[in-house]
Amino acid sequence: MEFLKQLGIKEKNYGCSTGQKWLETSAEGELKIYSPTNGKFIASVYQCSEADYEHILEKGVDAFNYWRTVPAPKRGEIVRQIGLKLREFKRPLGTLVSYEMGKSLQEGMGEVQEMIDICDFAVGLSRQLYGHTMASERPMHRMYDQYHPLGVVATISAFNFPVAVWSWNAMLATVCGDSNLWKPSSKVPLSAIATQNIIAQVVKENNLPEGLFNLIIGRGATIGEKLLNDKRIPLISVTGSTKVGRHAGEVVQRRFGRTILELGGNNAIIMTPDADLKMAMPAVVFGAVGTAGQRCTSTRRLIVHESIYDKVKDSLVKAYSGLKIGDPLNEKNHVGPLIDKYAVTAFQKALKEVKEAGGKVIYGGENLSGESYGSGCYVQPAIVEAENNYPIVQEETFAPILYLIKYRGTVTNAIALQNGVVQGLSSSIFTNNMREAEEFLSAAGSDCGIANVNIGTSGAEIGGAFGGEKETGGGRESGSEAWKLYMRLQTNTINYGTQLPLAQGIKFDI
Ligand code: NAD
Repeated sequence: MEFLKQLGIKEKNYGCSTGQKWLETSAEGELKIYSPTNGKFIASVYQCSEADYEHILEKGVDAFNYWRTVPAPKRGEIVRQIGLKLREFKRPLGTLVSYEMGKSLQEGMGEVQEMIDICDFAVGLSRQLYGHTMASERPMHRMYDQYHPLGVVATISAFNFPVAVWSWNAMLATVCGDSNLWKPSSKVPLSAIATQNIIAQVVKENNLPEGLFNLIIGRGATIGEKLLNDKRIPLISVTGSTKVGRHAGEVVQRRFGRTILELGGNNAIIMTPDADLKMAMPAVVFGAVGTAGQRCTSTRRLIVHESIYDKVKDSLVKAYSGLKIGDPLNEKNHVGPLIDKYAVTAFQKALKEVKEAGGKVIYGGENLSGESYGSGCYVQPAIVEAENNYPIVQEETFAPILYLIKYRGTVTNAIALQNGVVQGLSSSIFTNNMREAEEFLSAAGSDCGIANVNIGTSGAEIGGAFGGEKETGGGRESGSEAWKLYMRLQTNTINYGTQLPLAQGIKFDI
């Protein structure tokens, strides 16, 4: 396939790189990668060994010691060049993301566009790493704070965003003066290798040291655990399930390291009687079935006022019956496959559980097979009438299941349902009623990291900080002030007088 060639993906690939060199270890076994779109073999990856890990970490620490002294705008220049390279490779990389992960080509290309966007953001940021100047309470004293680079920053990424999540972290960390270590999901390592090949061109053209952009592809139980326990890594950004994030958070906190946790969501859209249904419907359907329901921000619950419930239900079923499911590289299709057969099992298990709890599947829910699907993991997206308190509705099932939930009375009741889950990532309200919208956005409104009005739950822009509350982990990546997490804050007080007054007026004469 031409796009694999353009990206430097061979039949067998090494899984460990310092940005300049691939480490040629083959003793740790091969990961064979098959496309979820058709079940065909794409390529294999040799996993990294513990010795490789040690080598990489040493390079990472050395690179940090150099990189932290390079002026931030010069660091931004490197990120600018990475953004240019990504523009050059947008089509092949977007195609690989689509082929390896199963999301539509449009979404694969969109993911690379997010990488480009965060590069642009980070370049600007490289001249804006601002601290504050404070008024000292003591005469002839000056006080300010400044942000310093932090160290080797590790990014552990989830399968559903094979490349974008890394760039949200790594491009900020790079302008902040950190070196990078990336452990991608072993379900989608080829997209990471392709990205590493693109970055390597910038490393070479600028004669950058080894270790600034490291990649390790290895088992969670060995390499992953080493990384979590490694005191040389002050910050680990983990994007993944709540289960993995909880474990990572505990291990890293025990050694007083820091984490940015970007974990599961259970996102809802509220539709009030004042909603513009024409606008709301595409947002709901895209949110629920886009990426086959495998986005952290996928719409999982639709909370609808009883007065419009039947109308919404009918329009939803109509919209779902028009969905085209199949090869995501064919741009006519709306829905691609699930990542693997385990995801299909989880989809069926959730449907069984919701039925047992009293829910009613009103559309879809079947596994799809036949010639046009090959050995791909395709399912018919499901709509289920349910109650918010069913145990399975409280969970994140990473598949296209939309729970339709009725609310009565005022928007306050709908907000209580929306907040009535353990996760807190993304939320939306569709209404033209200003009072309802403002209540939803108020301190007593949505408890999520993302709250939208008249937009769906998925499809965030990089300019805003991204992340969620409660069991979503509390981390923030990408835009706004998220960069501060990749640096250490230092407060400086300078006495330019001849006396030594103590703070709080304390007297200490000797
Ligand atoms: P996962 O939790 O199975 O894996 C996430 C990453 O953790 C992978 O790279 C995996 O190899 C690694 N990992 C597993 N065990 C480890 C260990 N012991 N030590 C170190 N690393 C380990 O998640 P997934 O199935 O790849 O992705 C889906 C999940 O990610 C969903 O829950 C989704 O909501 C979440 N997600 C969240 C966000 C967000 O920003 N909040 C974004 C994307 C995905």
